[in-house]
Amino acid sequence: MLDEIKSRIAAAEAAAGRAPGSVCLVAVSKVQPLDRVISVLHAGHRVFGENYVQEAAAKWPDLRAEFQGVSVHMIGPLQTNKAKQAVELFDAIHTLDRMSLAEKLAKLAQARGACPELFVQVNTGAEPQKAGILPEALDGFLKDCRALDLRPAGLMCIPPEGEDPAPHFRALAAMAARNGLAGLSMGMSSDFETAISLGATHVRVGSAIFGARQYGQPPAA
Ligand SMILES: *Cc1c(COP(=O)(O)O)cnc(C)c1O
Repeated sequence: MLDEIKSRIAAAEAAAGRAPGSVCLVAVSKVQPLDRVISVLHAGHRVFGENYVQEAAAKWPDLRAEFQGVSVHMIGPLQTNKAKQAVELFDAIHTLDRMSLAEKLAKLAQARGACPELFVQVNTGAEPQKAGILPEALDGFLKDCRALDLRPAGLMCIPPEGEDPAPHFRALAAMAARNGLAGLSMGMSSDFETAISLGATHVRVGSAIFGARQYGQPPAA
C-alpha cells in the first residue's frame, strides 16, 4: 500500500509539473496496530502523523530509539495543557488554530530555543463545529503570530465532508501565497492527488496506506 501511494504521489507531482520529491508524505498512523506502523518503518518510510498526544507519547519515543531519522507530525486538535508535551514529542504541529495556543507555543519555544515546524489550520468551509482560523481572520492571526516571534511554515485545511475539496485547496493556496508561506498541508487518502495538483507540500494519508482504522479497539501490541 505504501509503494502504491508513493507512486501515485510521484505521478501527481509529474502531472502538475512539480519536482520529484517535492511533496512530503505524512503517513497517518493514528489508531493503527503497531505492527502495521513497524512494517511501514521497515519499508523505509520516516514521516508519520498522529492525532492524539497520549497515543503518540506511548508509541514514538520507543520507535524513534529503534529507527533513525523519524519525524512525527501532530495533525489533531491540540489542547493548550498538552502543548508542552507536544513540543517535546513532535517535529511539526499542523493544527495551530487559536491565539491562546500560539501564546503557549511561543513561550515554550523561547524556553527551549526551538519550536516544531508550525502550520496554521484554516477553517476554509467556515464550519461552526470545526477548528481553525476563519479565512477572513487569517492575515491578522499570522501578524499576531509573528509579533510573538512565531514563524509558521504554512497553512493546513480539512475541507468539509462531502464537498468538492478543490475550491478549498485552491483558496488555501491563495491565502498562503498572499502571506508568503511556502507550506501547504492538504489532501488525505481520498483527495491527495487533487491537493498535489493545487500545490500541496504535505499530504496526510492514513487509511490508504495502513488500511481502515478500527476505532474502539486497543492497538495490537
Ligand atoms: C485521520 C486524518 C487524516 C488521514 O485520513 P485518511 O482519510 O485515513 O487518509 C488526515 N488528516 C487529518 C487531520 C486526520 O485527522
